[in-house]
Amino acid sequence: MKKINFSAGPAILPASVLTQAAAAVENLDGSGLSILEISHRSDAFDAVLVEAEQLVRELLNVGDEYGVLFLSGGASTQFFFTAMNLLNPEETAGYLDTGSWSAKAIKEAKNFGKVNIIASSKESNYDHIPRGYTVPDGLKYVHLTSNNTIFGTQFKEWPETDAPLVADMSSDIFSRRIPLEKFGIIYAGAQKNLGPAGATLVIVRKDLLGKVNRTLPSMLDYRVHIDGGSTYNTPPVYPIYVMMLTLRWIKAQGGLEGMEKHNERKAKLLYEEIDRNPKFRGTVADDFSRSQMNVTFVCTDEADTAAFQAAAEAAGCDGITGHRSVGGFRASIYNSMPYEGVETLVRVMREFE
Ligand code: PMP
Repeated sequence: MKKINFSAGPAILPASVLTQAAAAVENLDGSGLSILEISHRSDAFDAVLVEAEQLVRELLNVGDEYGVLFLSGGASTQFFFTAMNLLNPEETAGYLDTGSWSAKAIKEAKNFGKVNIIASSKESNYDHIPRGYTVPDGLKYVHLTSNNTIFGTQFKEWPETDAPLVADMSSDIFSRRIPLEKFGIIYAGAQKNLGPAGATLVIVRKDLLGKVNRTLPSMLDYRVHIDGGSTYNTPPVYPIYVMMLTLRWIKAQGGLEGMEKHNERKAKLLYEEIDRNPKFRGTVADDFSRSQMNVTFVCTDEADTAAFQAAAEAAGCDGITGHRSVGGFRASIYNSMPYEGVETLVRVMREFE
């Protein structure tokens, strides 16, 4: 039986993307070569890179003032890369502390400049997105994690500030429309909404670069990668190829508007069941903070946990165990999760009741 993959990441990909990705391992578009063995400087791969970048630009409405990069190192590398490229030692960046990934970004940024924690939900184990905070003036940038994969929270409103936003969108990129003009840098590890692990998408406003006094190693300088068209060194060829296929799929589903509707519908179905079913309780209280990508919940009676896990697994629902720091369950319902997958989980919850 094909399982329904609710894993937080690496995560589900569209079935049609997997079929095409598998075929390209043997023979890329009839070229007689595998995608795994072609040169990153070949015409065939150049076409992949060009199309992937063009799709990113088209879907998110990204203008020429931004560079679009496909790098390696994961989102975790971007925690320091962003600060290293933007922040001088005497300057201050604002950070919103909304989960473990934000905390890691904060830790790395402190190595390069001053950090002002504008708001934090740490005291309640990151169970909500802070509200009612004021962003001070004079910040170099404001960093946030748009979707907190572990805790199941997501920003629905963006901080009010004139400073450029720097956002870790690893777990909700391309899931909804965003006001791109507010963002100085967007970065995302591929392994949730984009493709397999190994590639990191970075969208960076070029005018923010070249303003730090430190010497940047070439591989850690966004300008070098922009000038090199993401081929300064050998990029993760296969993950970028699968990312390109996924971006084509997103476009065919109606782009970000289509994704937004699809994701809202799935999240509504699941949250309504969690709120209705006396056997379960959501760990995030309200829609202001609730993530449409990672839905976290527990059994009202903890003693039910193992039995529900077994019932879900018997129905083919894989990867719903919550992160160890939250416990309970986490259903990750990224872009590629079909509505029917969520229907199956909801059916199991009803039968369990
Ligand atoms: N940020 C978020 C929001 C994440 O969910 C993750 C986990 N994939 C990371 C950062 C770390 O990403 P990576 O493993 O690509 O470094």
